[in-house]
Amino acid sequence: MARVSAGGTQYAEMMPRVVVVLGRHPRLWFTAQEVGQQLLGGQDTPTRTQAAVTLRTLRRMEEAGLVRSITGRRAVGSTKQFVTRWQITKGVSRFASVCSACRRRPATVRDRGWCRPCNDRWRRAGKPKAGPPKPSKGGRPRQPDTELRVQETRKLLAQGKGTMEIARTLGVPGSTVTYYKHRLAERGELPQAC
Ligand SMILES: [Zn+2]
Repeated sequence: MARVSAGGTQYAEMMPRVVVVLGRHPRLWFTAQEVGQQLLGGQDTPTRTQAAVTLRTLRRMEEAGLVRSITGRRAVGSTKQFVTRWQITKGVSRFASVCSACRRRPATVRDRGWCRPCNDRWRRAGKPKAGPPKPSKGGRPRQPDTELRVQETRKLLAQGKGTMEIARTLGVPGSTVTYYKHRLAERGELPQAC
């Protein structure tokens, strides 16, 4: 609980512990403060940083469907404050384990110990021995040899070759060569002759 960020590593570390804490009383609702206290062994009061980390972990767990929350108003002295309480999602503590591939979701595909999205990625990738491939971050992955062809285009342009000639040489449509030329122009690498 020492580090401030609730980045991937810290979440992977915190989440299973929160599952254990909430899983002890699967019917009860706990504030983030109470969860933080339980994480510290039940005696100490969490620091602001620890409380913030616990809250971020709980929010991410909710996105992953591991916990649910309710927010209600509670009287604190003469004022009323909003307070959010958290409960383990029914069935989650039964798994008592999280996906060993992504460490984010419960291991619902029990014979392999992975979550459904990881299991699906693994199947789509042709069931590699190494397990589920990492999810691609944002958008379609760029073809690895695109950059090679962009550089090839630059050379051919410098030799005075035309767009259609380059297209035939590389075995791509003319529109693709035009795209490569745009890429080069953006970086100021388009040969002078063009
Ligand atoms: Zn997973």
